Order: sequence, then C-alpha cells, then structure tokens
Amino acid sequence: MPPFRPVTERLWEKIKKTDSSEDCWFWTGAKTRQGYGTIAIKGKAKLAHRTVYETSVEPIPDELCVMHICDNPSCCNPKHLKLGTIYENNKDRHEKNRSKGKAHKGENSPMSKLTSNDVLEIFKSEEKLKEIAKKFGITFQTVSDIQNGKSWNWLTKNEANHRAGGSFK
Ligand SMILES: [Zn+2]
Repeated sequence: MPPFRPVTERLWEKIKKTDSSEDCWFWTGAKTRQGYGTIAIKGKAKLAHRTVYETSVEPIPDELCVMHICDNPSCCNPKHLKLGTIYENNKDRHEKNRSKGKAHKGENSPMSKLTSNDVLEIFKSEEKLKEIAKKFGITFQTVSDIQNGKSWNWLTKNEANHRAGGSFK
C-alpha cells in the first residue's frame, strides 16, 4: 500500500455510488454508533459526510453542521447534504424522533418496499389513497406523506415544483 493517498481517493472508494444522484450513496467503511461514516484524516476520525461536503461542495463555516436531507446518517451523496445551523439540526432530529416509526427514509430503508419509481407514481397518482396503499402494500399514512412531500421529498420535489409553478420549496 502506498504511504500516502489523497483523502478524496480514500473517501470515495468507501462510498457505494449508484448511477442516480437521487439515490443514497452509502458509506461502507467504519461508522459511529449513530451510523455516521467515519474516516481517519491525519490520525483523527472525521465524519465522512462532512468530508464529502467539504471536498465536493463547499467549505463548511465553523458554526454550521452538515445535515442529511434524506435522513440516512451513512449517506454520502453530496446532493443529499445541506448546511444547517446547530439549532436547525437539533430541531430536525427532534421532529424526526417524534415521528419515529412513521417516517420512511427511502428505498434503502428496511421499512420500505418502495422504489424511486413507485414513489413518483404514488406522488402523481390520482387514485384514492386507500387504493394506492393497497396497490403498493403500504400504509395510508405512507401514501399521504409522499403526496404531501413529508417523506421522499427529495424525489418528488421537482415534480411538486413543476406543479406549483416553481413556488414549492
Ligand atoms: Zn441520501
């Protein structure tokens, strides 16, 4: 093994990329107890998703955290990461904990039977919620969350934007 390799090289070889930037790209290396990927840089353990953000997107200001839009701590897809304040991060976590068990975190979550295409189909469907739920073998709540943009919104965002004439965030 060569004595020194660039951080980005060591970083990306541990990330399971897919063809789509919509997907979560999971960290395959060491993780913290909370599920965040870690990488050793100059002898110190750094959070993998932060390092991805720093090296692929922009520098992280001291007072800000890097948050997961997709809710998967080990995801390293730069498109699923955003800067937030510590306050926002805590608030986000608090809200997610409160809805624990109801939240569906995406295709790779063990709770989910849905693919990205299913989600889009559900989002666009004009059938009754009950019918959709039955068709996909999911709960009424899941259908409602998808249609309201409460879950999977990184997938449905563009569609919603289109529908709302660009005003949807
Ligand atoms: Zn992700």
